[in-house]
Amino acid sequence: MLEDILQEKFGHKAFRGQQKKAIENILRNRNTLVIMATGSGKSLCYQLPAIVKEGMAIVISPLIALMKNQVDALNAKGIKAACYNSSIPKKVLSLIKEEVKEGKLKLLYVAPETLNKEETIELLQNVNISLIAVDEAHCISDWGHDFRPEYRNTRKAIEALGYPPIIALTATATPKVEYDILKSLEIEDSLTIRSTFHRPNLYYEVLPKQQTERKIVSFIKNHPGESGIIYCHSRKKTEELVEILKLNDINAASYHAGFDTKKRIHNQDQFLASKVDVIVATIAFGMGIDKPDVRFIIHYDIPKSLEGYYQETGRAGRDGEKSYCVLFFDEQDVIKLQKLNRHKTATEREINNRLLNELSTFSHSAVCRTRQLLYYFGEEKKEICHHCDNCQEERVTYLAQDEVTLLLETILATKERYDQVSMIKILTGIKEEHLNYDEKEMPNFGKGANHTQKKWNSIFKQLLIDGYLVIENPEIEIAHLTKKGKDFLTKPYPIKLLEDLSFELSDSEKAKKKGSKGTYDLGLFGKLVNLRDQIAIKNNIKPYLIFQEKALKALATYFPTTIEQLAQRTNVRISQVHKFGQAFIDVIKTHIEENNIEPPTHVVVKANTAKSTKKIHLIQQIDRKVDLREIARQNSMTYGALIKELEEISSGGIKLNLSYYIDTILEKELQDDLYEYFQEMKDDNIEQALEDLEDEFSEEEIRLMHIKFLSIASY
Ligand code: ADP
Repeated sequence: MLEDILQEKFGHKAFRGQQKKAIENILRNRNTLVIMATGSGKSLCYQLPAIVKEGMAIVISPLIALMKNQVDALNAKGIKAACYNSSIPKKVLSLIKEEVKEGKLKLLYVAPETLNKEETIELLQNVNISLIAVDEAHCISDWGHDFRPEYRNTRKAIEALGYPPIIALTATATPKVEYDILKSLEIEDSLTIRSTFHRPNLYYEVLPKQQTERKIVSFIKNHPGESGIIYCHSRKKTEELVEILKLNDINAASYHAGFDTKKRIHNQDQFLASKVDVIVATIAFGMGIDKPDVRFIIHYDIPKSLEGYYQETGRAGRDGEKSYCVLFFDEQDVIKLQKLNRHKTATEREINNRLLNELSTFSHSAVCRTRQLLYYFGEEKKEICHHCDNCQEERVTYLAQDEVTLLLETILATKERYDQVSMIKILTGIKEEHLNYDEKEMPNFGKGANHTQKKWNSIFKQLLIDGYLVIENPEIEIAHLTKKGKDFLTKPYPIKLLEDLSFELSDSEKAKKKGSKGTYDLGLFGKLVNLRDQIAIKNNIKPYLIFQEKALKALATYFPTTIEQLAQRTNVRISQVHKFGQAFIDVIKTHIEENNIEPPTHVVVKANTAKSTKKIHLIQQIDRKVDLREIARQNSMTYGALIKELEEISSGGIKLNLSYYIDTILEKELQDDLYEYFQEMKDDNIEQALEDLEDEFSEEEIRLMHIKFLSIASY
């Protein structure tokens, strides 16, 4: 009995979901495609048959690191298994070969590129192969979120090995990817076993990407001690974000491909053992991670596809408890990713852009998130989920009887020949040269021009999800009318559709965003600049010697209301803060009151602790009058980078006495000339100074004297 083996070898009492059906099918030597969510127990679907059947199973798996874990786990259960890939030392490899030849193994895990090698095929041709499991089978499709070209050759290896039964497994497959898997492996005859993609314990939410750090910090503060993953595109961002979180007493660590294996494993283990609450990672993190209590997944940057999104959010709430998936959307991120696609081949570009479009459509749509996701994976869900932002918040609806009639009629009039893009062009009256429209079939050409293409896209999508239209062939993506669609045309009725969401910033918000890398209050900033300039006039000093613009932007970001907070936010010397600070605080307080602003209590100064330590070290070395080039060498930085760092320190109001060094590179008289120039200068504009003085002084001399000037002139 299969249950006995399940109990004896794997220690499980009963099969989960459709595991048994998949196992029985492959045991009958029938090809099988298993589409089940991550964590549902796919491995068992090929591991158990591998034990039962005679011979050795081959498991094709893309991730060498995960193979080892699986093999170790099997060996621990007394099931003989091994890995066969490029990372294994030659000596060990020849031992494994011997075991394979002698028929001692029940499972052999192989990387696709290793399997495709002639010598591997030769080795395996003389072995009794029980089955071939193609794990992470979506990697075979270039419509998948993780396409791996080497997977494409799997079919050739299968042929060379005499067509053993195939079991392909994946956690994510849209109808298109499913079609691709079956076709590429030539297993169209296979039984597809699919579990639902519905995750009722996940709460989905899409937010505009504004004040993101602040929102993330408050979110985590509201979920103290819970485990979560934050995904970013760049390594740099992961590290920056970790610093901000740490500053806010959040126990976080980063994870990306730039770390060596040791550090990666260390950070991952800390997270798995719940010693670190939050991991900020690039997408490299999470595959094969089996942590049941991940309570939230935050996408700081958008994922590259809806499939990737589902896969990544799927790492939350494996234990079935309520968990959150928050995606921060910004159209600029879409544009950025499209730009990154520029150098790819035309086909890759087209695919990537379409995947991105799906993600963008999902983000903008006001339709229940779960219904959208399930539709994407080919599942029908009639009811809304009640556990996403679109279900829980009020969304704008409109009655669209005329629009729906026009769209459905046009599809019929054009004999259900065109895809969505072409249909919408016809409706909005845009001719496409390559399509030879038959004028007679075009009674509705341009009749929908009163709406934008975006709006028509939204209507089209809703009619698909609501079952008025259906795409029968995932390869060509042409929509046909369903019975419901045809019935509607016979007897039209008002249909309530949802208006898309807008993530566009208002003009003032745009201005705010443009003016600073983070977000600061433009109105307050203006008031602070005015105040500073008045004080400057009264005291007959240059405004930037009181507070530089950078410091004022920090004040307009963090709204400090005490002298201590002000000192902390600006990095300005305490004496200066005491001298002028109160006036600034008064302006901030009034502004907060007048505008009903809730100051960010959670997000503390965005300063970087590691950087601060480094800065302190540099200041100490300068106090000890160490030669600047020597300081750069000792800190493994270029001389130019050191000067930049010193500029940053001095612009924060910290005095740096560089005379000891400047005296060795520049005569006193020339120093005086430069000093005078800076005194005359209206604004603190180093770029202008470099341009004005480039014939007489080197960049190094100008920059260093500028630092000296700021240090002497400031209060
Ligand atoms: P997937 O490959 O689908 O992501 P795994 O095969 O890694 O999932 O299994 C996830 C977890 O579920 C593992 O810890 C596994 O031991 C457990 N599991 C699998 N099948 C069963 C079962 N029938 N009963 C209980 N636990 C199971």
